[in-house]
Amino acid sequence: MTYGYSGKILKVDLSTGEIGIENLSEENMRKYMGGKGLVYHYLKDSVNKNTDPYSEENPLYFMTGLATGIPTGGTSRMIMGTKSPITQGFGISESGGFVGPELKKAGWDGIIVEGKSEKPVYLYIKDDKVQIKDASHLWGKGNGEVNDIIKEENKDKGIKLSQIGQGGENQVHYACVINDLKHACGRNGMGAVMGSKKLKAVAIKGTKGIKFKDKDKITEISKWYAKYQKDKPLSKGLYLYGTAAGVESLDKSGILPTRNFKDGSFEKAKEISGQTMADTILAERGGCFACPVRCKRVVEVNKEDIKVDPKFGGPEYETIGSMGSMCGIGNLDVIAKAHEMCNDLGLDTISTGVSISFAMECYERDIITKKETEGLELNFGNEEALLKLIKDISEKKGLGKILSKGVKKASEIFGGGSEEFAMQVKGQELPMHEPRGKIGVGLGYSVSPTGADHMQAAHDTMITEEGPMLDSVKTLGITKPADPKAYGKDKAEFYALNEKWWGFLNMIGMCDFIPAPRGSMPIDKFIELINASTGWDVTPEECMEVGERGITAARKVNYDLGVDESYEELPKRLYQPLENGALEGVSMDRDKFIEMKHYYYEHFGWDEKGYPKEETLQRLGL
Ligand code: SF4
Repeated sequence: MTYGYSGKILKVDLSTGEIGIENLSEENMRKYMGGKGLVYHYLKDSVNKNTDPYSEENPLYFMTGLATGIPTGGTSRMIMGTKSPITQGFGISESGGFVGPELKKAGWDGIIVEGKSEKPVYLYIKDDKVQIKDASHLWGKGNGEVNDIIKEENKDKGIKLSQIGQGGENQVHYACVINDLKHACGRNGMGAVMGSKKLKAVAIKGTKGIKFKDKDKITEISKWYAKYQKDKPLSKGLYLYGTAAGVESLDKSGILPTRNFKDGSFEKAKEISGQTMADTILAERGGCFACPVRCKRVVEVNKEDIKVDPKFGGPEYETIGSMGSMCGIGNLDVIAKAHEMCNDLGLDTISTGVSISFAMECYERDIITKKETEGLELNFGNEEALLKLIKDISEKKGLGKILSKGVKKASEIFGGGSEEFAMQVKGQELPMHEPRGKIGVGLGYSVSPTGADHMQAAHDTMITEEGPMLDSVKTLGITKPADPKAYGKDKAEFYALNEKWWGFLNMIGMCDFIPAPRGSMPIDKFIELINASTGWDVTPEECMEVGERGITAARKVNYDLGVDESYEELPKRLYQPLENGALEGVSMDRDKFIEMKHYYYEHFGWDEKGYPKEETLQRLGL
């Protein structure tokens, strides 16, 4: 008997139509705890350097974690994995919402999708009943419409859905998977791989529930946390203003990515802030499974010239940055429309916004002209151009066809020195966090197995002095604060320790906004919860080792796939000065950065080229 997980993974081969079960041992679940760890466990032997991410040899995983589905808050994560078409390496993307918990309630810890269907299909899972259903009538339609049809034809409004839109069907490299219209597995091209398999959706209904070892303890902790978090600033700010609560303070500090990372301050920051959203288009504060924090936004716009449907939720900080300040757009209605379109078409808002921002800069520098833009005045701030290009990218039409490949490929096509400001690492576009004011974030972008990714570690601006924030993570061995602008050995260590903890949260299926340091739940309380669920005796040290295992495992896969240290270069722009704001004139120091990166390798027991040493692999059981 297992508690907190079922030990069963659903296996579906779309080439043959076979449906089976893969058993997951307690030894492996304890070793990996879910998410990224399970993706490693299955992916490592399934792909090699020559595997085309869009071929039937590339599997696609929908995984949960050990914490997914515990009814407490933050336990909402579903983690997808594959060989990424963007990085050609270890691909991961995670999302909150309800799909992960629903899958566990149906009795499954994850799904492995192999092969490729000849015609469009969707997967229908109701507990043990699993069917591959025809989706020919759904192909070519947006997520909003398909969501309604699938619920209607299965006569169940309670179904939870992972879907791809036209972006995934057309294999836009950064097409994403959208869960219940509002939550995105945004990064690494999961939607493009799903589209290549002609898998339009996964529809899940779970009625079995999850068995927990000590249900009373879980209820006690859940009730306690629901009250406890209410007046804690970290939770309250998220509830009131969402993830965009900090837009104005980022702007004041000069680290709000603006106009393709040329600037660090945006003159219309207030207009696009979470506070302005709360006063204008916010219709409701939304949330994920069992979470009392409710940081998600639901927005509605009902004007003559622009309408935004609340069923798609609302823009989070990453979208506000990438579609707003990055594109010079200070109009929340337009940003909300861009968000709605991306969720309906199934496009990652970060990569879409950064790609359009990049094209705007190319246009302003005359690297591309009206000939390439087909007459569009593609200056920063052009709202109509933003919305038109989102559609064109999803259809791979005109300039949209080039931008659908991402900024790395687009810069190779445009030339004119544009690779200097193509804001990507390993082919993936930078999220909305400015490394010139947070050196640790720059290290994260560089070493992340998935390319530039904001889901790897807490930012170095979080723990800058002695006090309650630092106290909250001392149990993890993080005993010194960090100066966000510092380099060196201490900084590398600070980043590595934070990354292990966040890596662990990713594996176990936990939202980063709930446990300390980014959230209000004390770490000891969170570990008590895991033990109440499983009946195990997990300690903070074990959590850190699991996180370390995940990071080293992902690196090993990447190096085996040819994605090595040479893919860790940061965009040249980060070594050039910011052009406005509080950090005007500030740039990164490349020599100090590379030296710090090698301290980071040392910390993990990797060699000077970043490959895990034999003794490290053995110690971690890899
Ligand atoms: S904190 Fe926000 S993102 Fe995290 S689980 Fe709760 S509602 Fe979802």
